[in-house]
Formats: sequence, C-alpha cells, structure tokens
Amino acid sequence: MVSTLLGLNTGELRSLVQQHGGTAICGDRLAEWIYRQGVHKLDQMTDLPDALLAGLSKEYKVGRSHTVTVQQSRDGTTKLLLALRDGARVETVGLPNEGFFNCCVSTQVGCPVGCLFCATGRSGYTRNLTPGEIVEQVLAVQEWARKQASENGDQLSRIDHVTFMGMGEPLFNYEATLKAMRLFNNELGIAMRHITVSTAGCVPGILKLALEKTHINLAISLHAPTDDLRRKLVPGMAKWGVAELIDACREYTLQTGRRVTFEYCLLDGVNDSVADAHRLVALLHGLNCHVSLIPYNSVVGTEFQGSRRGNIRAFRDVLENAHIPVTQRVQRGSDIDAACGQLRQRRT
Ligand code: SAH
Ligand code: SF4
Repeated sequence: MVSTLLGLNTGELRSLVQQHGGTAICGDRLAEWIYRQGVHKLDQMTDLPDALLAGLSKEYKVGRSHTVTVQQSRDGTTKLLLALRDGARVETVGLPNEGFFNCCVSTQVGCPVGCLFCATGRSGYTRNLTPGEIVEQVLAVQEWARKQASENGDQLSRIDHVTFMGMGEPLFNYEATLKAMRLFNNELGIAMRHITVSTAGCVPGILKLALEKTHINLAISLHAPTDDLRRKLVPGMAKWGVAELIDACREYTLQTGRRVTFEYCLLDGVNDSVADAHRLVALLHGLNCHVSLIPYNSVVGTEFQGSRRGNIRAFRDVLENAHIPVTQRVQRGSDIDAACGQLRQRRT
C-alpha cells in the first residue's frame, strides 16, 4: 500500500529522501511543499529532481484528503467537512480573529467519551486520526482562506492559533496529538503558546503531557464539581474521580509552570447552582487556573437547556469573589453547527 508523506517531519523527510538517493536539502524542499505551500501531489513539486519524484511516487503520496463541503457562518466561522482516505469524515473549523485564523482541529473520528451534551459524543466512535490527518485540517483551512483572499482581493489570513477542540478526545490519541503539536510548531511555525489542547479529563494523559514540558495551553472540560454528576455528564472518564483529576492538574502546573483552564458548560438546573459554584471554588483552591464558562450550544436529541442569564451571573460572582479568574466563551458558528460540541460524525 502507498504510504503518506503528510505527518512526517523535516528530519524524517530528509532520511526518506536520502534512502531514495536524494540529498538532505531535497528533504527540506519536500517539507516546504507539503506544509508551507500545501500542495496535494508530488508532481507539483517543481524544484525536485524527476528521478527522485519518480522513485518516491512508487511508494508514497502526499496523502491529502478531499474537502467535501465548506459552510460559512454569519460571523465568519467556517466549517470544512473532510473525506479521509478510508472514507471516514471529520469536521474542522476556522475562526477568523483580528486578521488571523484559529483552527479548531479534530483528533478522532467521533468520540468514545460520550458526553451527554455533545453531538460528537452522541454520534459514536470509529477510530483515531493519524498525525497527518490532524495537521492537514489546518492545511485545508489555510487553502480555503488563500482561495477566498485571492477571489475577493483580500489580504491573506494566516493561521496562528490551533485548538484541539474539534471531534474526539486528544489524550486518548496521545502520540498522534503530540506529534501533530510538534508539526504545527516546527513545520507550520505556530507558537506552542498558541496551541491549546482540551481534554475531558484523561488523568494518565495529563500526567504524561506534564513531563513533555511543551508550553502549550491545557484546558480541562470539567463541567461538574462532584463525582456523581461528572460520571453522568462525561461517562467515558468515570474511572477518574474529580479529586484525582484536580491533583493531576496541580501536578501539571507544578511541572510546567503553566496555568490550567477549566471549561465548564453551564446547563440549566444541572450544574449551574450557587452551591455548585461553591463546590468548584473549594476544588480549585490554591490552583493556578482560570475558568472558562461555556454557553450550552443546542444539540438535537438532548434535553439540556443553557443556563439563564441571572444564574450565570450568580455562578460567576461566586468564582470572582473567590478570586478565581473567569471568562465567558463567546458562541461562534452556531448557525452552521460549528460551535463547541456541535461537530458530528458523518458517514455519507
Ligand atoms: N474532547 C475534548 C475537546 C473537544 S470538545 C473535550 O471534551 O475537552 C470542546 C469543548 O466543547 C469541551 O469543553 C466540551 O465539553 C464542550 N462542549 C461539548 N458539547 C458542548 C455543547 N453542546 N455546548 C457547549 N460546549 C460543549
Ligand atoms: Fe468527546 Fe469532548 Fe464531545 Fe465529550 S465533549 S464527547 S470528550 S468531543
């Protein structure tokens, strides 16, 4: 079977090219074409020797997927549906932000965690994505942005932030997530501080990531201050209790010196009482953290409602009075089902 070049870093491309009789410089050019120029085919690489391209093409192709649909929201958020080599489909989202783009990438086809309020979690799980399949989501959004800019005569928007907040649980696909992070950093020039990994609370993954000392931002989807409630809302992480999860976060901040963000999706009458807010304060006591309150984005088939404005205010006041920094995430792209938790696994 033909392998893909996408997902290999410059060092790996250099050795591959050298095995095929090329020089290390040819490996650098290969990386330039794949990651910076975003070409889909080997024969588009005009400055590489024909003999080398002919040799490589017997065993390799670039490995880019096909963009099936592009949807654009009123607020500029753009969602791409990609068809992968085996026919599986994933969604990725580009969010324009002051002349730049943030790309929200998926790490799995579907998700095994099964959070009750999340469209991805409700649509089942198929498989992990490879590092190349994660990275190419950013390349696809960049390609779309280039096309838009040239059609409209606009200045090109560069992707300068990546968030692992699309479909799937990144730390259940640990090695591919880590490799993709390094490819974003080394091959696409995205600063580690502009990369955010969001996990629903995979404790061993958090502890392992702490030792990598990468300077990325870590976000934890907490959503509940007690074990009982968290087990219901985030069933796939039930084996790790809330206290164990917070301990892992403390270890993460100690190892990396980085602040952790806790995401908390406010659901009316479920996790949004003042008593819940006080429990959260007690849990986070002394931890270098920040809380991001997420408005609930509606998902068909769930019974949840977003919290009422007054309850959000009261919840927020409790955290602020305890000197815990809080922000409220702005809802973006909900008219095209591109907001948090609305990405869905599609088979057709
Ligand atoms: N699987 C990872 C990352 C993807 S989800 C994780 O869960 O952290 C990104 C964020 O959106 C998570 O905080 C998730 O809990 C939240 N989310 C899921 N469904 C949502 C919904 N319907 N409304 C608002 N946020 C949601
Ligand atoms: Fe998976 Fe995250 Fe959705 Fe939970 S919220 S089901 S972990 S994608």
